[in-house]
Amino acid sequence: QSKQTFATVNPYNGETVAEYPMIEGAEVDARVDGAHRAFGTWRERTAEERGAVVGRAAELMRDRKEELAGLITLEMGKLIGESRGEVDLAASILAYYGEKGPGFTKPEPLDVGEGEAYIKHEPVGVLLGVMPWNFPLYQVVRFAGPNLVLGNTVMVKHAANCPQSALALEKLFVDAGAPEGAYTNLFMNHDEVARVIGSPHVRGASLTGSERAGSALAEAAGRNMKKSLLELGGSDAFIVLDAENLDRTVGAAVAARLGNTGQSCVAAKRFIVLDEAYDAFVEGMRAAFARLVPGDPAAETTTLGPLSTEKAAADLVRQIQDTVDQGATVVIGGGRLDHPGAFVEPTILADVAPGMRAYAEELFGPAAVVYRVADEDEAVALANDSEFGLGGSVFCADVERARKVAERVETGMIWVNHPTGTQPDLPFGGIKRSGYGRELSALGMREFVNQKLVRVL
Ligand code: NAP
Repeated sequence: QSKQTFATVNPYNGETVAEYPMIEGAEVDARVDGAHRAFGTWRERTAEERGAVVGRAAELMRDRKEELAGLITLEMGKLIGESRGEVDLAASILAYYGEKGPGFTKPEPLDVGEGEAYIKHEPVGVLLGVMPWNFPLYQVVRFAGPNLVLGNTVMVKHAANCPQSALALEKLFVDAGAPEGAYTNLFMNHDEVARVIGSPHVRGASLTGSERAGSALAEAAGRNMKKSLLELGGSDAFIVLDAENLDRTVGAAVAARLGNTGQSCVAAKRFIVLDEAYDAFVEGMRAAFARLVPGDPAAETTTLGPLSTEKAAADLVRQIQDTVDQGATVVIGGGRLDHPGAFVEPTILADVAPGMRAYAEELFGPAAVVYRVADEDEAVALANDSEFGLGGSVFCADVERARKVAERVETGMIWVNHPTGTQPDLPFGGIKRSGYGRELSALGMREFVNQKLVRVL
């Protein structure tokens, strides 16, 4: 359901802080035209000049850290310390592509017998990014930073619940020296997204968000023969093979499930634990979940924030309760917290089996599912019995044993002895219903480019 307005609603107290009207029709078209005009000159600059603008945006982002972190916390309820961490991460991505991005655009010579041949990496034009609220800065710069350095111009339709973050990003790029139209914010509805993709000026579309949104965007892109890139949901497995260093493994598991109050695509969601470690692992997680202190996400002492919206909290509790009705066991939590705001109890479910909601669906909040398995084969089979394939992790003191298991898990990313993470120089993306294409790294720098053959004889 498309939202009527873009609005900042503080999920801690339900207060509507700011509202912004949507634009449509001719007003949207004028911005698309502006992005197209800007492409004509932006592509003519050197990659180093474009990189300098993106690098300057990184500096400005660091200068504005407190303001930006405060906006994230206000709009989607992230703990303030985590919001500062997101600003640092987003700035590091902009800084990385500002500096190293131009190197990815260099022509690649091909080894041919006669004459000369090379691949020239050319920008393709205006891109549309449709972005989610869970990391209001990081998700956007992952798309915008590399593409601006490549010479594409970008338009961003941000999530309707983080308009102030969206405006702050547009201002950031303008203040960093991006020419008018290089980065364009669009407060528009879902129908307009589909219409804009049909514009002859738009050469590609990238969406981070739910499967439903991804499918709608890909449908519009396919109809118009435009390339799309999808970063969708996940239900990452966190596989524990032994009981060594269990405190460390439990610490990693808790962080991997509860970071961003569980609202991360690459959060660990399914904990698959070999029998020898299972009891101690689950008890460790339960104890850590029990210690969380709910409260205002803007307060430094709070360790459990609200979910992004009241609806998100209600939906998650529905998934949990349905799974319990289907026969699952509650280790801890299971419902709403007795606290105003969009809070859900930190929850662990056991005895979850095929056919139950939590077995197949993504739980986008502080709710974990734990599975006891007999051996590695069972762990791998369970991990792979999912429609998703985004990230995952395997923990074991014997790194070679962990690596062998990791390589058998069907995902776009897998980490050993560390939860799935993100860093500027590593590719990010999934397979199956988690989407297609990659962001970041050399792979991300090859998605929206014309890899043009030049043959000289
Ligand atoms: P969502 O509803 O899909 O929203 C994401 C964006 O898509 C928003 O800007 C939203 O606009 C827009 N949108 C939704 N339906 C649309 C449609 N039919 N046509 C055009 N645009 C549409 O996502 P969410 O539920 O808020 O976000 C959580 C999901 O994102 C989870 O599944 C999570 O795993 C996934 N995610 C994936 C990654 C990754 O990198 N793979 C990263 C973060 C999150 P409105 O706000 O206006 O509705």
